[in-house]
Amino acid sequence: MFLNGELCKKCGGKCCKYYPGIALPKDFGNSRKEILNNLIRVFKSGLWTIDWIDRKKDLYFVRPSIKGYEDVLFDHSIQGECVFLTKNGCSLPIERRPTGCLLLEPIENGKCVPHISKAEASKEWKNYLDLLFDAAVEAQKINFEF
Ligand code: SF4
Ligand code: SF4
Repeated sequence: MFLNGELCKKCGGKCCKYYPGIALPKDFGNSRKEILNNLIRVFKSGLWTIDWIDRKKDLYFVRPSIKGYEDVLFDHSIQGECVFLTKNGCSLPIERRPTGCLLLEPIENGKCVPHISKAEASKEWKNYLDLLFDAAVEAQKINFEF
């Protein structure tokens, strides 16, 4: 994990303004059940989305939503500001931030280095695609109990 509060504060979160960090399955729990339940919860919040590299090859990954695209469960936007960025920085506690955010190494003059790629993340998500889609279906269920 890389944290440099001073440098990131000065920068104002250029990374978060450009594109949200990529999450891994382990960011949502340690067991399949825990991951499924947490995915349902975050998808219901409308603040997390499923993105992809190549749908035909089942290369999907999860990330926070982009501002203006809340409640869009499948989103393939190229660029946009993370829904969790506030004027005081990230609103998520460190332990709930995506691995992609924690593995972005802050370096002076905008030379920050990502240590995980979309390709690596989607490879990990490939083992959890059943959970991902079950959670998506569950999150989109309409509650007819009035
Ligand atoms: S990681 Fe880099 S781009 Fe992101 S806030 Fe820190 S210095 Fe800015
Ligand atoms: S979750 Fe937080 S640290 Fe990660 S991109 Fe969004 S605002 Fe930035």
